[in-house]
Parts: sequence; structure tokens; C-alpha cells
Amino acid sequence: MLKTPAYAANSTKAPLVPFSIERREPRAHEVLIDIHYCGICHSDVHQVSDEWGRGIFPMVPGHEIVGTITRAGDKVAKWKIGDTVGVGCFVDSCRECAACKDGEEQFCEQGATFTYNNYERDGKTPTYGGYSTRIVVNQDYVLRIPDGIPLERAAPLLCAGITTYSPLRHYGVHEGSRTAVVGLGGLGHMAVKLAHAMGAHVSVLSHSPEKRQGALRLGADDFIDTRDAEVFTQHVKRFDFILDTVSAQHDYNTYLGLLRRGGTLVLVGLPKPSPLSPRPLIMGRRQLVGSLIGGIRETQEMLDFCASHNVAADVEVIPIQQLNQAYERLVRGDVRYRFVIDIATLNRG
Ligand code: NAP
Ligand code: ZN
Ligand code: ZN
Repeated sequence: MLKTPAYAANSTKAPLVPFSIERREPRAHEVLIDIHYCGICHSDVHQVSDEWGRGIFPMVPGHEIVGTITRAGDKVAKWKIGDTVGVGCFVDSCRECAACKDGEEQFCEQGATFTYNNYERDGKTPTYGGYSTRIVVNQDYVLRIPDGIPLERAAPLLCAGITTYSPLRHYGVHEGSRTAVVGLGGLGHMAVKLAHAMGAHVSVLSHSPEKRQGALRLGADDFIDTRDAEVFTQHVKRFDFILDTVSAQHDYNTYLGLLRRGGTLVLVGLPKPSPLSPRPLIMGRRQLVGSLIGGIRETQEMLDFCASHNVAADVEVIPIQQLNQAYERLVRGDVRYRFVIDIATLNRG
């Protein structure tokens, strides 16, 4: 076993503190990855706070991982030592169900194995994420990081990137689509960049007016301050597609009214539930749907799309010792737009 330094929350809402985990020597089909950077997703905050329930503690969060392969099992054919790779939100799945066969492993009917706060396929070995110096992953659940994307700016693509790319593609956002992104955080800023790169006309709907200039710099065509209730009348029936990335409880009904006839509101943010009225759905045959990250094939497609369109996350790199302050700042919305941990600051022991 490989003694591996990490940061963990020992119980619900506990601060993140230095911790030690054991990673195994890679099995025949597995690789060992030395982690360089790991992004901080709002899902990490939700799970450390156990807002989704069934939290497994101690918890080592982190599912926006980039690093270098340092060892490989003897059946590993896809990768070689020295390859620069990424790991996202899941590290395994059943491989046999319809979802897995369709390359949508995130929807595995037996349950995908999430990178942390979950158990391996054996049902008893807890998974630990990227707030650690290394990770062992089956070769089929590893992504290639294309040359040309700085590694710290690539890390957030593994969750924020794919979570926004997948619904944009699935719902056919294209040249000229009237698209809105609600919430300009880690996911939201990636959604703006990706939708812009796909040729869409992009509006940002934000409750933080100080983000206006930043939104336009990211590629948004306009910025709508949602603290002004009037905007929900001014922009009624305007959008083909709205991607809602908000991490806090809010009213979906008002946003549905901004969709044209047959338009689609996709929820990716996962706050506490809030009431839904059938009326705005019925009056205009609008659709309300959800989306969960993306499969391995599509994640690779997204990484390659980012490389060819010069898209990467805007990040603030922090030493791991500042994790708890970073969580507080993230909850306050004080980050442009993703914190990424420099894992070199975690003593490799
Ligand atoms: P984030 O960086 O904190 O961004 C969330 C944004 O929501 C904020 O920047 C803010 O944007 C807006 N917001 C926050 N509090 C608000 C409030 N009280 N009222 C209105 N707007 C508010 O979080 P993230 O990492 O992008 O994650 C966003 C959500 O997606 C989280 O719930 C996360 O768990 C979820 N998620 C889902 C998936 C999936 O597969 N479905 C994957 C990853 C993450 P403005 O300041 O611009 O209003
Ligand atoms: Zn995430
Ligand atoms: Zn499956």
C-alpha cells in the first residue's frame, strides 16, 4: 500500500485537515497518477456539509483532477508512464448496463462509482478524491489532457467543463441559439465560454451586478441583473435554452417564463428543492430537464473541443493550506471563477 497525504473532513461540516490515506499498488488494468492540481467544485462544499445526505466520513473531496501517470498495471494498453491525464467525477461503473454501453457511465444503472464519498465496486472500500497526492484509477476511466491547455486551467474541465458541455450539446445549442446561463460561478463561466465557442448568442443572468464586465470578457453578449424583478418581464419568451447552474435555492418558475415556446431549461445546480408551478411549463409547452456531468467519451470530446477552441477555466490557484478559507469564499461568491489547489503544496511524505 502507498501511504498518501491528503486533506479530509472528519465529520459533517468539519474543517478540512491533513489526513493520510492508503492507495493500493495499481492492479493489472489500473494506473497510479501523481496529482498536480485539483479544482474545488461547489459539490465538494455540498457534500462536506452533507447537504445531499448519506455522506461517508472521513471524506477526501476532489473530482477535478489532473496529474501524471507514474505506474501502470501490466494489462494497461491505453496509457504509458509520463502521460498527462485527468480524472473526473467517477472512477468506475458496471460496464454492462444500457447506460454504460451507451457511454453514459454517469447514469450507470448499478450506480457509477463516484470519485469520492462513495464505495468501490466491492461495496465497502471508500473512495477518496483529489485533495491528495495520488490516485489509482482503472485505465478506462482516465482522460487525456490535450497539449496546450495549462494544467491548472484544465482541472476544472473535468467537472465544470463537462457538466456544461454535455447539455449544450445534447439540446443542440448552435450558431445563433439564444442561450442564457444562470449563475456565473465555476460551472457558469465554463458554460459562457463553451456556448460562445459553439456560436450561440449568450446572456448571463446573475444576481451579482459586479460580475458584468467579467461576463462580457468571458464571451457573453449581454448581462442581466436578476435582482431587478423587472427583467423577468422585459426578457419574457426570449431564450431557446437556459442553463441553470445556481448552487442556492431559488425560484425556477420565473426563469421558465423567459423561455420561448418549446424552449428548454436545464438544471445542473443541485440546491435544496423549491416549489414548481405547472403553469409556465404548460403555457408554451416548455421543458424542464436536468443533466449530470457526462460520460467518458463525451468528456474526452469536450477536452479536445476546448483545446481546439482555446477554451480553459479561469482559475485562482491556492495552496492546500487555504482550503477552508477557499470554501468560505466560494460560498460567498468571491472567486473568479474556480479555485484550484496546487497539490505540490501538500507534502508528499
Ligand atoms: P459556484 O462556483 O459557487 O457557482 C454558483 C453560482 O450560483 C454563483 O456564482 C452565483 O452566481 C449563483 N448563486 C449563488 N448563490 C445564489 C443565490 N443565493 N441566489 C442566486 N444565485 C446564487 O458553484 P459551481 O461549482 O459552479 O456549482 C454550481 C452547482 O452545480 C452546485 O449546486 C453544484 O453542486 C452543482 N453541480 C452539478 C453537477 C451536475 O452534474 N449536475 C456537476 C457539478 C456541480 P451569480 O453571482 O452570478 O448569481
Ligand atoms: Zn463537480
Ligand atoms: Zn452500468
